[in-house]
Amino acid sequence: MTENDTGARFHPYKIIIVVAVVIAALVLILGLHSGKVCAVMVNGDTIAYAQSEGAAKKVIEALAAEKEKELGQEVHPEAGLELKTIKSSKTPIQTDELSKVLVDKVNFVTTGTMVTIDGKPQLSFKNRDIADKFFNQLKDKYNKGDECKISFLEDVDTVDKQVVINELNTVEEALQLAENGRGEPVIHIVEEGDTLWDLAAKHDTSVENLQKLNPGIDENLQLGQEVKVSGSSPLLTVLASYKLTEKVAIPFKTEYNDDSSLPMGTRKIVQEGSEGSKNVTYQVLSQNGKITEKTVLDEEIIEEPVSRIIKRGTKFVLSSRGGGLIWPVSGHISSPFGQRWGGTHSGVDIAAGYGDPIRAAGPGRVITAGWGGGYGNTVVISHSNGIYTRYAHLSSIGVRRGQNVNQGEFIGRVGTSGNSTGPHLHFEVIVNGVTRNPLNYL
Ligand SMILES: [Zn+2]
Repeated sequence: MTENDTGARFHPYKIIIVVAVVIAALVLILGLHSGKVCAVMVNGDTIAYAQSEGAAKKVIEALAAEKEKELGQEVHPEAGLELKTIKSSKTPIQTDELSKVLVDKVNFVTTGTMVTIDGKPQLSFKNRDIADKFFNQLKDKYNKGDECKISFLEDVDTVDKQVVINELNTVEEALQLAENGRGEPVIHIVEEGDTLWDLAAKHDTSVENLQKLNPGIDENLQLGQEVKVSGSSPLLTVLASYKLTEKVAIPFKTEYNDDSSLPMGTRKIVQEGSEGSKNVTYQVLSQNGKITEKTVLDEEIIEEPVSRIIKRGTKFVLSSRGGGLIWPVSGHISSPFGQRWGGTHSGVDIAAGYGDPIRAAGPGRVITAGWGGGYGNTVVISHSNGIYTRYAHLSSIGVRRGQNVNQGEFIGRVGTSGNSTGPHLHFEVIVNGVTRNPLNYL
């Protein structure tokens, strides 16, 4: 009776086992995606989901170790990196992929040396030795010997702190940046009327910045001059103060020896001139190698210059057929030479404006320069060979007695001083003590 029962019916314990197996399988399956993942976060932003904190840590440590090996010093992920196990239905990524994301999005830092310029972090180095090497090379470039004093225009500080390893500068990079800055320079070619102020306004910068971009530039812009107007401002300005000695040429002078035996206009070189030379010592101030100030400290003559000597003819030849003298002012003759009102007019009156300049009719020596009674303010010039010219009624006298004048040189101004009825120049030519008609000599 009982043998038939065994095959056809489930015993309760079998049901329990099956249920247990099913539950266990479910737990196993769900366990892998149990809703718990590790969020990898940088400064609060999730950059990836890892399978677990442990798995993420392993990848991060491997990356840090790799970078440490490369750099030769301790490397850590940045402080903003966080691992958080959370409940989420997100599918975590595999190790290889996680590694790529971390390389891309996580900064690794090391204890290096940061250089701040005017308070801003600008350069970073692996360590202080490299920073020092950079400063030394930069200074060496502008060092002009033992007595050269080197400093920076900017306020420069170095501090040992955590620096991002991808941003570390090599000495070469830092030198390049220090001198050329970041960004492309823009060059302006100076045009007519440009001023530094205009350029600054036009390019949205300041005159001070232009001066920094173009060391040594001054307000006198030259046409065609190149002016850096934007972009690359050097990060650092190296100031060098030093003594500089240069050999400088001394130009020669030209001396004239007047010779009354030679006709006027004749020139003969009696002695050729030659330049001298001297050593000039300057105190120099330079900015990134460009001299911005140069003060003479001392001069030492090596060779004196030799003057060029020219013999100059002064013989003044007048002919009564005209020529020789020039008109002292321009204007028409308002009263001619000769008979007038029952007397003799000793010169010509030339109508001219009050204050018009009067020029010497010929070369000579001033023998009168002052008040001449009825002539008013008067100048008399003695030319060679007993010839004199007189200029009367002047409003002002521009020469002194004893002064040598060239033909055409300013001697005074037209006026109406003395016996005169209006502004004019009374002009006389006296030859061997006798007044002659000036028109014959002009
Ligand atoms: Zn007159």
